[in-house]
Amino acid sequence: MKEMVLAIVGRPNVGKSTIFNRLVGERMSIVEDIPGVTRDRLYGSAEWAGNSFRVIDTGGIQLANQPFQTEIRAQVDIAMEEADIILMVCNGAEGLSEDDHFIAGLLQRAKKPVVLAINRIDDSSRMMNIYEFYELGLGEPMACSGIHGIGVGDILDCCFELMPERVDIPEEEGVKIAVIGEPNVGKSSLVNAILNEERAIVSNIQGTTRDAIDTAFVHDEKPYIIVDTAGIRKRGKVYESVEKYSVLRAMRAIERCDVVLFVMDGEAGIREQDKHVAGYAVEMNKPIIIVVNKWDIVKKDDKTMNEFTQKVRNHFLYLSYAPIVFVSAKTQQRVHKILPIVDEVLENAKRRIPTNVLNEVIGDSQVTTPAPTHNGKRFRIYYATQVGIQPPTFVLSCNDPKLLHFTYERFLENTLRNAFALEGTPIRMIARKKVSE
Ligand code: GDP
Ligand code: GDP
Repeated sequence: MKEMVLAIVGRPNVGKSTIFNRLVGERMSIVEDIPGVTRDRLYGSAEWAGNSFRVIDTGGIQLANQPFQTEIRAQVDIAMEEADIILMVCNGAEGLSEDDHFIAGLLQRAKKPVVLAINRIDDSSRMMNIYEFYELGLGEPMACSGIHGIGVGDILDCCFELMPERVDIPEEEGVKIAVIGEPNVGKSSLVNAILNEERAIVSNIQGTTRDAIDTAFVHDEKPYIIVDTAGIRKRGKVYESVEKYSVLRAMRAIERCDVVLFVMDGEAGIREQDKHVAGYAVEMNKPIIIVVNKWDIVKKDDKTMNEFTQKVRNHFLYLSYAPIVFVSAKTQQRVHKILPIVDEVLENAKRRIPTNVLNEVIGDSQVTTPAPTHNGKRFRIYYATQVGIQPPTFVLSCNDPKLLHFTYERFLENTLRNAFALEGTPIRMIARKKVSE
């Protein structure tokens, strides 16, 4: 069954993001410390009773200088379009308000199940507060306290009960490539260029997603699916004016894909916005190729490409593993290089390294460059094993995981990258305390 998508709506300050954080939990991520990357957590994965589901905090989607009602309409719009279940949150400490009535009015017209959560019922003395919310006409108000986690489980049970049965659309076979990047960098043009270039057998896959247009094609007898998030931009809904919504859509495309093409405009240069989506691709552990487009109109000499590469490297430190390709969708220059690189990075993401070779490399590194001591203690690896692919994931059996410093982790990552073909793919390392026999 497809995962449930739950959207949280409600007026400001009722506790939406508190509930969201409780559901989604803290994100464990290497990019957490990078400013601007994970700031807006408006979309996340969660799990309840063995079922994983998705949560959207529509409150995180803010329109600049818009009146409350426009903002709420956008929230509700997104929830209706995106979610299976809508969770309306009210403030049980303050009681029912006009704004709640306004939102409930919009939701009553939604053809989606709505669950009504009355938040800030921190203890039983406030229990009586929930009854007035029956007035909203959205069914039984359910008490909760986002801060303390009380009642949240019952609410989720209720959401899962209301989840409509769905028929699965079988996923098309092929390497899934998501094309992401800011508006106007040339994503659509690039998709067309790739498809033209291949003179491929092309078919639009109908109805597989609400976020993107999937196009299947064959290249060198191998099937691919290109996921174009730009193609359906102009649907003219209210929420299309919401800038952050395009981020949400890109996130979904990233989640579904095998390889990310992160497109930039070589003429306009690097924009701050580029960081958001790229950061998410890193968090999702997807192989990434940086495509610098519009290279035809860049004034250049023999140094320009190196200089641009350096800029990209400095700006996206956490994307050091991503290959960079300079193309022009317009003239098709170097567009033919993209698919071979896609194949290569995917192969790297699926690479399995024999345990003995892995341990030789790790062992040598420990001898030549041991970890620095910290309070007289030194991080030591006894044994390494690869436990997964896509991305390659390694468990380091060690004396004490807490001694593994970020910089030494970086060093180990570079060691593995130098020893094995891992270009384009992220790798994960998990340090575990060795269990003594
Ligand atoms: P949002 O604007 O709807 O996303 O609301 P927030 O999640 O940012 O919460 C607004 C304020 O209410 C914050 O100061 C929270 O700490 C507080 N809050 C959220 N949930 C609860 C709760 O269950 N009990 C209490 N007492 N405060 C809460
Ligand atoms: P998207 O919003 O990222 O899908 O961008 P589009 O594909 O719609 O392209 C935005 C604009 O850039 C259009 O006017 C394109 O004609 C132009 N464009 C796209 N790729 C190239 C390129 O390689 N070179 C030049 N000179 N213009 C391009």
